[in-house]
This record gives sequence, C-alpha cells and structure tokens, in this order.
Amino acid sequence: MFILKGIEQLEKAIAKAKKVRPRVEFDHFGRYRVSGSKGYYTVICRKDERGYKTVACTCKGAEKGLVCYHAASALSLHIGLARREQDTPIGVFTDANEIPYLKPSIERPVERVGGIRIN
Ligand SMILES: [Zn+2]
Repeated sequence: MFILKGIEQLEKAIAKAKKVRPRVEFDHFGRYRVSGSKGYYTVICRKDERGYKTVACTCKGAEKGLVCYHAASALSLHIGLARREQDTPIGVFTDANEIPYLKPSIERPVERVGGIRIN
C-alpha cells in the first residue's frame, strides 16, 4: 500500500502500464481488478481516516510499498470516475478503453469509418 501524494509518483508505473496494457475491470467505485502476470490483482483506492489517498494492490510489489502498474492503471480509471461521477452513471465507465493513456487495443481501419466509397 502507498499514499498518493501526486501524479508524478505514478510516472514510472504509468510508463510500464503503457507497455503492458493491463486489462482493468471495474468492481465498484474505489475497487478494481487489474490483469497481471499471474492473473488478476485487486486494487483498492480510498481515503483513510486521516484524509490520505491510499492505494492498495494485492501484488508482491505493492506489499513492499512500491507503486505498481496495476495501481497506476486502476488509478487512471478511478480518477476519471471521480471527475465524471457527478453527471454520468458510473457503470458506463467499465471499459479499459476509457483510461486516458491506454489506446483501444482494436483500432478500426480508417477507410471503414463512414463507409462511403467513391468509385
Ligand atoms: Zn500491483
């Protein structure tokens, strides 16, 4: 578990997440499942009683207090949810494609968009 103080703490983990592109599954607000090398890890983002934003992951790295890429991936979704929760139903954002720094893994070929061909 670690305390989130700023986004710069996550830079390395985000870089790793960009490479690994783990799948993030939404459980409920503050709780996510992230795919890792040995199955899914659970990431819990919450504020503790002192008001610190804490992030816990069930992987080995996080046990030692490291910022793992699972946490970074889940946080990216969590932060997006926290920003949008007021005007949008939370259930909509269960897709990993919503994570700002992860591009959709399946990209539609440009020529199919619109479906108009000029012959
Ligand atoms: Zn982890």
